[in-house]
Parts: sequence; structure tokens; C-alpha cells
Amino acid sequence: MLLIDSHAHYDDGRFEKEYEGGAFAALRDAKTAGVLCVVNSGADLETSRASVSLASRGGGELPEIYASVGIHPTETGRYRSMNEALDGVRALAGEKRVVAIGEIGLDYHYPDTDRETQLSFFDAQYGLAEELSLPVVIHDREAHGDVFDIVRAHPNVKTVLHSYSGSAEMARQYGSLGVFMSFGGVLTFKNAEKTREAARAVPRELLMLETDAPYLAPTPHRGKINTSAYMVYTAGVLGSLFGTDADEAAFRAAEASRRFFGI
Ligand SMILES: [Zn+2]
Repeated sequence: MLLIDSHAHYDDGRFEKEYEGGAFAALRDAKTAGVLCVVNSGADLETSRASVSLASRGGGELPEIYASVGIHPTETGRYRSMNEALDGVRALAGEKRVVAIGEIGLDYHYPDTDRETQLSFFDAQYGLAEELSLPVVIHDREAHGDVFDIVRAHPNVKTVLHSYSGSAEMARQYGSLGVFMSFGGVLTFKNAEKTREAARAVPRELLMLETDAPYLAPTPHRGKINTSAYMVYTAGVLGSLFGTDADEAAFRAAEASRRFFGI
């Protein structure tokens, strides 16, 4: 099977604690399972820097590793000056193997969220991506309407909604705008019929697979640490949705990822 993991966090400390041999052992095992490439996503300046450094170590017995850099919505409150933070993102975006700005977006899950700050960072980083001609990786949690409006306001930027959690109807609307959508372990959860329905509504050339590792491990590993090797389960479910085998589902999703990131 040929797989590309379009979104993961191998710099996360959970790998050292919960995966024997740590992140590099997990990446080696992923390569053995057929994972050719991993896009490691930053969530603040520190993890974006870690993504860039991880990317420089890919290849050989590891998958090829690429990085995306950006400030995640829940991290936006940490920076006293948005412009300073943005300068940091801009500098990192110029590093080798950086293929996207992300993950950026909106997260309205917590009631005490400062939505205004999140919206400013989101819009500014979208603008940065446009200026640098880089695609954007979006995190959207319980903010579907506002995210949709901002995506629509940036028609010149290639965009993916990572771990897509919207409706099938919204997936069709995004599809008609040429926006990519990426699916992970949730696709395999028993209670995730809504997510499977949404995946079925996505044009195949816009549908990517991811893990969000170490989070959101698919069934039958749900609740444990996730790794790119487990994408075989997600690909199996995706195949069943489209009436193909897991290999073809994985291959077509990998093609979409290649086109999206230019890798
Ligand atoms: Zn993530």
C-alpha cells in the first residue's frame, strides 16, 4: 500500500512516552507499512521550528518528511504582538521542505475563547500564505460558518480543511470551490456516520488522508497513540465508501496530497 500522511505531529512528546523507541521508531514503522511521505504540522512557533527540523531528517529508512508552519487558533493568545509572531512564521516559511502555512484556523470549542484574536491571526496568516504562494492547512473546530466565510474570501489560496468535521452539504460547497478536505481516524469510528457521509460527498481529487498522530487513532486502536502506519485502517474504510479496495483508496488520496502540497 502506498500512503501519504497529510497531517501529523511527530514532534509531540507523547511519542517518546508511549511509543517504544519514540517518534523515529514510529516513523520507521510507518515507512515499513507503506507510508512514503508525512507532512508534520506546527501549531505555534516552537512546534513549527520542530517541524522544520524534523523535515530535514526524513528519507532513507524514514518516510520523506515535509513541514507546515503556523499558529494554531488556540495558541494565538500566547503572543503579545501578532506582527512579531507573524514575522516568526514568515521566517520559518522560507526554510527547506516547508510546503504549507498551518495549522491555522478557528476553534470555538472553549467558551472563554477570544474569537477576535483568533480571527485576526487566521486572516493575517491566510494573507501571508497568499503572499508567499503557499497552500493553507485549516483547523476548524465548531466554527464552520466563520471558517467558510474566510476561505471564500481567499479564492487564490489552495486550501485544505484538515480532519474535516463539517456536513456533507458543506463538503459539496467546498468541493465546488476546489477546496481540499482531509480525513483521519474518525472515519473508522462506529458513531461517525456523519463524517463518512461527508467523505462520500467530497470529489475524489480533493480528498486526502491524514492521521493527526499522535491523536485520533482509528479503530481498532482508538484511544491509544496514533501513528501513520494505522492509515491502513482508514484507507480500508475509505475504500468501502467508494466501492474500491484499500490500496486504490490510499493511492488516490496520496495523489491528491501530492498535488495539493506539490510534493
Ligand atoms: Zn493537527
